[in-house]
Amino acid sequence: MRPHALGIFGAVQAVRGTGLVKRFGATTAVDGLDITIAPGEVRGLLGPNGAGKTTLLRMLFGLIRPDGGTVELLGQTLDHLGGDVLAGVGGFVEEPAFYPYLSGRSNLRLLARLDGQLARAEEIELALGRVDLARRADDRVSGYSTGMRQRLGLAAALLRRPRLLLLDEPTSGLDPAGTRAVATLVRELAADGVAVLLSSHQIGELEKVCDSYTVLRQGRAVWDGSAAELETQAPGSAYSLYTSDDAHALELASAIPRIRIQPASRGGLAVAARPEQMDELVAALGDARILIRRLELVVSPLESMFFALTGEHDAAALDTLGPQQLADAILAGA
Ligand code: ATP
Repeated sequence: MRPHALGIFGAVQAVRGTGLVKRFGATTAVDGLDITIAPGEVRGLLGPNGAGKTTLLRMLFGLIRPDGGTVELLGQTLDHLGGDVLAGVGGFVEEPAFYPYLSGRSNLRLLARLDGQLARAEEIELALGRVDLARRADDRVSGYSTGMRQRLGLAAALLRRPRLLLLDEPTSGLDPAGTRAVATLVRELAADGVAVLLSSHQIGELEKVCDSYTVLRQGRAVWDGSAAELETQAPGSAYSLYTSDDAHALELASAIPRIRIQPASRGGLAVAARPEQMDELVAALGDARILIRRLELVVSPLESMFFALTGEHDAAALDTLGPQQLADAILAGA
């Protein structure tokens, strides 16, 4: 690794991958990919199975050598397969691995020592507490559930005092409370300036934590941008709406251009709309004194965008589907 000059605006990026290519025989797993993550940014990495997410993460960790392109982490060029993972970089790829016959706490102590850090007891306790594993820290890892191993993996990553966290499916195997806790932890770390790259199949979970997304398909970035850009470009969301007078609500909605609405198969109304059209509908219902009893987001902008980019429907086709079809198509593909 060698020190690198400052970026064009003087800010060192946490990740700067340029023109990355990785081939396995005839398969091009990553095909000319550029990716940048700023300090304090949480970037979601999305893509269907085989899109190249894990291959990208393995290249960033220096576990495999790219066939083309360069990786800079925290301002340093990564010399692949040479030496340890860069100081300040933490995380795991595929799944975290531990000694099964040792306790969670002993594994962390060992890792900290192997890492050349002083095994500072209070830091280990703090990390165990942050992932809510303190109570089970003396149990052998062989008795841990998948979710508990994921939590221990996160604790191990925290011990490296990371400025960049690379996390492959960190919420797989976690229960809803655990998933929420990881989301909170990631946001806290980002607020302290830690950059995070997070791959996940749970689109709904990514939506709660990410500032930006890279969507991969067949090794290429088919979309790259901020959460706000995604919201404006997504082909609409689907909602489930229950009102005090659905027939009247249906009539009012049909006067709003480009909103798609129909009685839903499971009761209430199914609505496909962009956020500004939904605002208009809610205001119209209020003016007509129709009460909203329940309004649920069934398909989020990120889900519809992901589906448009990686599924068989393109964005224009999604715009012509009825709301129930939109929700059904996306939920079936999820
Ligand atoms: P998933 O969501 O299923 O984990 P992914 O997006 O992480 O998928 P990768 O595991 O990066 O995808 O795989 C990308 C492509 O590269 C796939 O076609 C896969 O079969 C291939 N590939 C990955 N690793 C190897 C390897 N070691 N040898 C041969 N092919 C590989």
